[in-house]
Amino acid sequence: MMRITIVCDNNAHDRRLQTQWGFACVVQLQDTTILFDTGGDGSILLSNMQRLGIEPRQIDMVVLSHIHTDHVGGLPAFLAENHGVIVVVPASFPRAFKEEVGSAGAQVKEISRPEQLTAHIFTTGELGRTVKEQSLVVDTQAGLAIITGCAHPGVIRVIEEAKRLLDGKVALVLGGFHLAGKSQRELAEIVERFGELGVSHVAPCHCSGDAARAAFRQAYRERCLTAGVGSVVHTRDLEMAAPGRP
Ligand SMILES: [Zn+2]
Ligand SMILES: [Zn+2]
Repeated sequence: MMRITIVCDNNAHDRRLQTQWGFACVVQLQDTTILFDTGGDGSILLSNMQRLGIEPRQIDMVVLSHIHTDHVGGLPAFLAENHGVIVVVPASFPRAFKEEVGSAGAQVKEISRPEQLTAHIFTTGELGRTVKEQSLVVDTQAGLAIITGCAHPGVIRVIEEAKRLLDGKVALVLGGFHLAGKSQRELAEIVERFGELGVSHVAPCHCSGDAARAAFRQAYRERCLTAGVGSVVHTRDLEMAAPGRP
């Protein structure tokens, strides 16, 4: 069983929660709870988590996708509440950043290549040139769930890497797809490529862009899951029969 709760996002969903530009989600499995990214503002992160009934102390591991402030800005406030965690960062992160995490009392784990983090959770390793970024891949009963921060290396590239790393169908791609500013034609090609790659469900949020969100909604219909702050995706939401390509 896997449950993903979006705790920071610029897209509204649960009206009790604050929106702000950025992204963070909590991934809960039987044996592990991971905070993936931290949003840009620690007070928003902590207050949204509290309203959702997620205690900072429940988190075992923090995985940071990339160095942009809207993904790492909430970390110091989080570590002040719980420093008994492993913080998994791309190896290219600045030395000062890693030292600060270490001096807050947390353990730093640096990632360059794809790696298994826990029994069912993997990182794609650092991808991309200008902005290096790692994405998370969760091996669930429903298939692979891929979680992206901003997908700066290209969302298609991330999916291809996840498929190279692990066998199995892609049940979900959730997070920022970084497609704002793409033309309708480019968006149509990307949605088509998702279909070719066998992606059964999508949950585009953060930097995906309104046009991309609309294009995915149109193609994937009920298999395009609502994604905004407070949205929850459970393994059972991914077990809906996928009628071939979208
Ligand atoms: Zn971002
Ligand atoms: Zn970014």
